[in-house]
Amino acid sequence: MPLLKADLAACQGYANCVIAAPDTYDLDDDGVVVLLKTEITDEDLPRVREAARSCPASALTIEDT
Ligand code: SF4
Repeated sequence: MPLLKADLAACQGYANCVIAAPDTYDLDDDGVVVLLKTEITDEDLPRVREAARSCPASALTIEDT
């Protein structure tokens, strides 16, 4: 199952990912991304991948396992 990872040091809190897929991404009180899930189903993958691509800081990656 594809694995979602976040580079917390790179995240700038733009929240593009949260807006695109709020069931998968959230922001903590410091404005850093929180992954609500890391194993991404085939059904969710296109949306989660699109959200990752929308990150201006390139902080989100999806590894195919
Ligand atoms: S879009 Fe990128 S920089 Fe913005 S909150 Fe999400 S991971 Fe962080």
